[in-house]
Amino acid sequence: MTNLQATTTLSNGVKMPWFGLGVYKATEGAEVIQAVKIAIKNGYRSIDTAAAYNNEEGVGQAVHEALEETGLSRDDLYITSKVWNSEQGYESTLAAFEKTMSKLGLEQLDLYLVHWPVKGKYKETWRALEKLYNDGRVRAIGVSNFQVHHLNDLLQDAQIKPMVNQVEYHPRLTQIELRTFCKEQGIQLEAWSPLMQGKLLDNSTLQEIADKHGKSVAQVILRWDLQNGVVTIPKSTSEQRIKENADIFNFELTSDDMKQIDGLNEDRRVGSDPDNFNF
Ligand code: NDP
Repeated sequence: MTNLQATTTLSNGVKMPWFGLGVYKATEGAEVIQAVKIAIKNGYRSIDTAAAYNNEEGVGQAVHEALEETGLSRDDLYITSKVWNSEQGYESTLAAFEKTMSKLGLEQLDLYLVHWPVKGKYKETWRALEKLYNDGRVRAIGVSNFQVHHLNDLLQDAQIKPMVNQVEYHPRLTQIELRTFCKEQGIQLEAWSPLMQGKLLDNSTLQEIADKHGKSVAQVILRWDLQNGVVTIPKSTSEQRIKENADIFNFELTSDDMKQIDGLNEDRRVGSDPDNFNF
């Protein structure tokens, strides 16, 4: 894991970048287009969007413009999207996927995720993702916000095991049980809200570690993700912070640093609880 293009190999052999740009709350149009283009021009290769973020068109436009302007090819990039809760079910997911692809303007998606484990629906949704995968429309399929019990339940009927589980993960929510389970199952864990949406940046333990390495708190947290084997996708629309977040391949946290950061866990979420959400 020596540079921004470094990849993890998913259970089906597909290579996914360890690091990417999240675009939740990046506004459709100029803001998201600019952020994605800045990221790609600065070496990012992975972009994480979702139908629910209402910015897939902007992501698609930025991807096409960046490809033209940089000479990169489509295969160099890794684009993720997710099916929203109201579209879950077999036929409705297939239709939602087509909508996503037409907004993105892409032939094939790199990763498609079930956004939340909607009770009574996610197995049918998964069946649709399996079809999309078998048809070659998407290179890898996965889930998001699945707890161990959701995964166990899904695995009872799944023909294909999810390759990725994208969950809230940061030093206040270290998800040890889920991380261990996913590792045993060969499911790559991916962190959303890795920076706890900015709420951890004034933490004194993290600041001390950051000072010692001459890095920012954000950089320390993102490096901690990677050293834990967790894919990370911090969101920023600021050019300076997009660059800062990715500048984490030139230092290493010690095992003592890692333990101190692990010790900040409080099982505390900034987002919704996958066992208790109503959307
Ligand atoms: P993050 O933890 O990535 O934090 C983003 C916030 O931190 C923004 O306000 C950003 O502001 C700020 N920020 C970013 N970098 C820095 C920095 N270096 N210093 C100071 N502030 C900084 O939160 P997100 O919730 O956006 O999570 C990341 C991504 O994960 C999302 O964008 C989305 O792609 C995905 N996600 C998935 C979910 C799911 O259910 N599957 C749920 C939530 C997120 P600014 O833009 O001004 O820099």
